[in-house]
Amino acid sequence: MSDPALPMTDTAGMLAVLRGEGPVIITTHTTPDADALGSQLGLLRFLRAQGREVRAINADAVPEALRFLDGGNDLERWDAAVHEHVVLDAALIVCVDLNERGRCGALASALERSGATIAVIDHHLDPKPFAHHYLSVIEASSTAEIVLDLITAAGMPLDFALAQPLYAGIVTDTGSFRFERTTPALHRKAALLLEAGVDPQDTHRRIYDDYPVGRTMLLGRVLADMRQVCDGRVTILRVTRQMFEDTGTSLEDVENIVNYGLGIRGVEATALLTEVEDTVKISFRSRGAIAVNTIAQQFNGGGHRLAAGGRVYGQPLESVTQRVVKALCKAVGA
Ligand code: 5GP
Ligand code: MN
Repeated sequence: MSDPALPMTDTAGMLAVLRGEGPVIITTHTTPDADALGSQLGLLRFLRAQGREVRAINADAVPEALRFLDGGNDLERWDAAVHEHVVLDAALIVCVDLNERGRCGALASALERSGATIAVIDHHLDPKPFAHHYLSVIEASSTAEIVLDLITAAGMPLDFALAQPLYAGIVTDTGSFRFERTTPALHRKAALLLEAGVDPQDTHRRIYDDYPVGRTMLLGRVLADMRQVCDGRVTILRVTRQMFEDTGTSLEDVENIVNYGLGIRGVEATALLTEVEDTVKISFRSRGAIAVNTIAQQFNGGGHRLAAGGRVYGQPLESVTQRVVKALCKAVGA
């Protein structure tokens, strides 16, 4: 559970934090998805419109499929020589879509040493103590929805540049409006974004239906290799280094594959293991009965009840797979 001593705030409180003076940095988690980048860009454009000096700096590059969101080329990739002093000298650093400092990757150390006020805007469970202000809305579908609420509460009219990245964040974090936090209120907010000029068909196509062929070949390889374990209640999907090599793909092409593991009768949980250099990255998904964030914690990770992730360093894929199978079988009682 969340540490009750954390300095939690609400929308009005966060708006007050955002109204201060001096340079602002917005950052988000490693291997950023559309919610990470969409909430980051929405917030950047909102703060700039308020006259603040803002930069967006991330540990990792923008996935190719999401570059269309960054029309102004505002997203900077961390380079210590360029950014170290920028982070150390910032007045305010806003971390979006993450709940612990380590999730900032290469920025984490500079963040720890910075004299800046640190603010967190996020919807993940169990935020860790590293910031001065938390707008932590666990019920939100996405961080983009929280940013939209901030913009609305500030009375700023929505335009396309604000609306498009926020819509992208909401669409992806709700699995195209089908996951558990898809509410009537969320659809009303999405309607505001469409009224501001977002084209849902075009946005969806750019995010999900405009990939190099290697991505689909990778999907085929992964599905062909799927295993059903724990009396049929768990599926295991794996992406090996060899599959990346054979299909000319990389980690960003793995996004979304995990959901295929759940779309099978009788399956309660799934895990996707991906070989990335000397690390095995693990994505967990649950259909509802089991909380996969507690399982992810056994693998140096965390996340939401139904979607979580972790990683294991320096161990072969096969042995990590066996540990994951054991943990999931125990959780589903098989
Ligand atoms: P994904 O499987 O898409 O990488 O991640 C699913 C969810 O788990 C995301 O909401 C993400 O924030 C969370 N998650 C993934 N990896 C980690 C991790 O290493 N630590 C924590 N705390 N959360 C993670
Ligand atoms: Mn998110």
